[in-house]
Amino acid sequence: MPDMSLVPPAFGYALAGLFGAVIGSFLNVVIHRVPLEESVVFPNSRCPSCGAVIAFYDNIPVISWVVLRAKCRGCKQRISFRYPAVELLTALLFVAVAMHDGVSVALPFDLVFISALVALMFIDAAHQILPDVITLPGLAFALLARITIPLVTGTPHFDDLPSLVNGPLSDLPLWLASVVGAVIGGLIGGGFLWLMGWAWEKLRGVEAMGLGDVKMMFMVGAYLGWRLTILTIFVGVLSGSLIGIVLMARQRERDMQMLLPFGVFLGLGSIAALLFGAPIVAWYAGQF
Ligand SMILES: [Zn+2]
Repeated sequence: MPDMSLVPPAFGYALAGLFGAVIGSFLNVVIHRVPLEESVVFPNSRCPSCGAVIAFYDNIPVISWVVLRAKCRGCKQRISFRYPAVELLTALLFVAVAMHDGVSVALPFDLVFISALVALMFIDAAHQILPDVITLPGLAFALLARITIPLVTGTPHFDDLPSLVNGPLSDLPLWLASVVGAVIGGLIGGGFLWLMGWAWEKLRGVEAMGLGDVKMMFMVGAYLGWRLTILTIFVGVLSGSLIGIVLMARQRERDMQMLLPFGVFLGLGSIAALLFGAPIVAWYAGQF
C-alpha cells in the first residue's frame, strides 16, 4: 500500500467529496429507475420529460443543475432539486466516512453501505417502497464485509465483535465470530421491525408497513452488529415520531402515519450509528 501519510488529508477529503458527487449522480439514476424496474446501466441518462439524451457536459454533478438553472436544455422542463441534493449529500457523506475510517480496508465497504442507504432513503421518500433489488444484495454485501474485513485486517473491526470474541465466541475463528455477529444483528434489526409491524396490525387492524423495512434492517443489522442496530432503531423511531407529530399537527389529520416513509428515518439512524455510534454505545455500556 502506498504511504498515504505523504498525502495532505485535505486533498484526500476533497477527492472523497468529488468521488461522492459522481457516485451521487449514479444514485440519482438508481433512485429514478429502480422503482420503474428499468436497467440502471442502459440506456444513457435522458430527460424524463422530453426524452432527450443528456450530454456529458450537462451531467456534471451539482454544477450542471446550477448552470442550466434547473431546466432541461431541450424542453426547459424543471429538473428536480432532488438531483443536486442527492449529489451534494453523497459527497458530504463520503467525506464524513473518509474522515471516520481513514485509508483502510473498511473504507470501500462503508462507502458502498452508505450509498445503498442513500438510494433506499430517497426511493422510500418518493414511492414508499424499499426495493428487494437493493436490500437483498445489500444483505449479501453485509455478510461479505463481515467475512472480508476481519480476515484481511486480523482485527475485530465491527462494533459488536470485540465483546463476542472476548466472550461467548472465543473458540471461533475471527471471521466466523463476525458472521455469527452479523446473524445476531440481522435478526435483532429485522426481527424488531417485523414485531413492530405485527403489533401495529393487531392494534390498529391495518397493515402498517411492507416487509421492505424488515429486509432493510436485516441488512443494516448484519453490517452494524446488534449494539449499533438498537441505536439505529432508537434514532429512527425518535426522528420518525418527531417528524410525524409535526406533520400531524400541520395537516390536522389522524392517518398521517401511513404516509411516513419509515425507511428514511431508519436510513438516518443507520448513518448516524455508523459515523457516531461506537463512542455512544461504549459510553452507554460503561454506565452499568
Ligand atoms: Zn427535456
